[in-house]
Amino acid sequence: MTFQEFLTRFNTEAKIIAYFIKIRYGDELRCNHCGSTKVYQRHTNHKVCDCESCHNTFSVFKNTIFEHSSTDLRKWFYAIHLFLNGKKGISAMQLQREIGVTYKTAWRILHQIRKAMSNKEAEAFFNAIVEVDETYVGGKPRKGNKDDLPRKRGRGTRKTPVVGVISRDDKRVEAGVAKPDRAGKKLSGKQLMAIIDRVVKDASVIMTDEFSGYNILKYSEHIHKIVDHSKEFSRGDIHVNNLEAFWSILKRGILGIYHHVSVKYLQGYINEFCFRYNHRENEHMFDTLIKQSVLV
Ligand SMILES: [Zn+2]
Repeated sequence: MTFQEFLTRFNTEAKIIAYFIKIRYGDELRCNHCGSTKVYQRHTNHKVCDCESCHNTFSVFKNTIFEHSSTDLRKWFYAIHLFLNGKKGISAMQLQREIGVTYKTAWRILHQIRKAMSNKEAEAFFNAIVEVDETYVGGKPRKGNKDDLPRKRGRGTRKTPVVGVISRDDKRVEAGVAKPDRAGKKLSGKQLMAIIDRVVKDASVIMTDEFSGYNILKYSEHIHKIVDHSKEFSRGDIHVNNLEAFWSILKRGILGIYHHVSVKYLQGYINEFCFRYNHRENEHMFDTLIKQSVLV
């Protein structure tokens, strides 16, 4: 959707509400209590509906990311438009300026959009050929803490390990934070397997690097192929290049836009980058996001 199309489609709150109702309820608005279709939108406030059958009054935004917000829906929708179309996302500071809200409101809106991005229905599982790889995201160790390890790259640092899985045929990605138990503790095979099992159900060919944690794959039904980084050129098809490309987008985004992300919110940011990557060729990405804005 171009910005011009966006402007004509969503220039009034009434249009936004009508569009939202279509996405959430289809052709017929239904009472969320009794299921009746004898439901009428109030003329004074289109968000609010009254049910003639059971006299229930409800908001069409109940149980969505828009609930409990008094911010103009045009600002919400513009924020979503910017968030989906910026390759690396948008910071709360930038959004605050773009839509004219407080920093706190901008932060909350972005957080809610990430919630929708994370709220996907069970999708088809990855199979055939998948790449699995880990990376480390995060800030510097705190100063003055004697327990902190010296700064190191990769495994064995204080950074947070993230495990990713990409399906080769349709290039879908899924990535999860693997919380380390103790500082410097390596990722365990069990943690790797938990994330692989979440998205790869059928026996598949799994490509990984030489990290010993992946030895656990011996005990699975998958065929494990290991990339040999000691050779100048990786052997033909055995590589994790797709994931390495995704990691670089993720890291550049987190560093460039968000500067620093605490472990508490890291999964939300990762889901944001996965959503954008997985829907990069989806013309209806905006509709998909609005569908996922319904949280139950
Ligand atoms: Zn009712």
